[in-house]
Amino acid sequence: MNNKSSVLLIISIILIIVLGSTSLSIVYIVKTIENDARTINDLGIIRGSIQRLVKLELSDIVNDELINKIDAGIFYFSDDKDSSENSNNDMINSIGKIADLWAELIEAINEYRSGPTESNRSILLEISEELWIYTDNAVSSMQWTTENRIRNFRTLFPLLIINLLLMITITMLIKRYVRDQLENKINFDPLTEVYNRQFFYQSFKKEIEKSQRYQRHLTFIIFDIDHFKKVNDSYGHDVGDLVLKELCKVCESSIRKSDILARIGGEEFAIIAPETSISSGVVLAEKIRKVVEKHSFEKISQITISLGITQFIAGDTIDDIFKRADVALYKAKNNGRNKLEIEL
Ligand code: GH3
Ligand code: MG
Ligand code: MG
Repeated sequence: MNNKSSVLLIISIILIIVLGSTSLSIVYIVKTIENDARTINDLGIIRGSIQRLVKLELSDIVNDELINKIDAGIFYFSDDKDSSENSNNDMINSIGKIADLWAELIEAINEYRSGPTESNRSILLEISEELWIYTDNAVSSMQWTTENRIRNFRTLFPLLIINLLLMITITMLIKRYVRDQLENKINFDPLTEVYNRQFFYQSFKKEIEKSQRYQRHLTFIIFDIDHFKKVNDSYGHDVGDLVLKELCKVCESSIRKSDILARIGGEEFAIIAPETSISSGVVLAEKIRKVVEKHSFEKISQITISLGITQFIAGDTIDDIFKRADVALYKAKNNGRNKLEIEL
């Protein structure tokens, strides 16, 4: 994975985390508001039901089913109030008081049923009035809390827009990342991670055209590992592979960013050096030869390379340049290897 792709991947992951957490908080807020609405509705039912119950009792109509219903509702709230995130302090206090008053009301109802005196009636009415006040307070405070929540939620709308933009950005970044990855596969040699033969030919063609049009220098170097068969024979093919990888790292550190290093065969490599005269090219090639010669490779100690160098001459085709470089390389091999030869 190249640096650009890693950055794209990291940015995408961060954006996905941001998107995920903002989406979760939006879902959480919507759920909370839904719960608030249910609580307000349930409290309203309790408030109305208590008044209806008292009215029926005072008319001597017994409705135990209604008592059970209110009882269950109040029990639910007093049981739930401490754990529920929906409750505020006012509401918790009101619910506690409502539960106490409800117990008093049941007692007063029983008193009234056994003796419907004027004093029992007024006690019943008094408690029912108090209950009205507390249930009403609970509803109001819940409404106030919910209204605040909805107001805060409105401020989250920009967050929704940001989420949308994030989604678009993530999609674009991932698309770019996938495209980069595909390009990597198409352009790079999987073993050594330098450019492959196909990319090399495309670039070479472009660079030759540029040199032709703008009359710019272009130097071309090919090199081949000396006696590489021996490395494979003595240490095995896997070690041979590692040597190829390490050789490329060593060479990459010696060339410029604008130079193109490619694997053009098994253990044959080429360097296209745009805007480079033959004399500078020779300096570069010699530098690479020496760096390789001095480098201590893992598992095996040393290898050497032979290099052939040439330059672009107006009217040259890829084949012309290649042939001259090949001749130079052949000479380097014949002259004892670990050498650089020029063919102009
Ligand atoms: P010289 O170039 O100095 O004449 O000798 P050489 O031993 O290097 O000869 P030649 O270039 O003909 O041999 C190349 C060897 O490189 C043969 C082949 O087994 C080996 N080779 C080619 N590609 C790979 C590869 O991907 N991995 C490994 N481990 N070896 C490879
Ligand atoms: Mg070879
Ligand atoms: Mg060789």
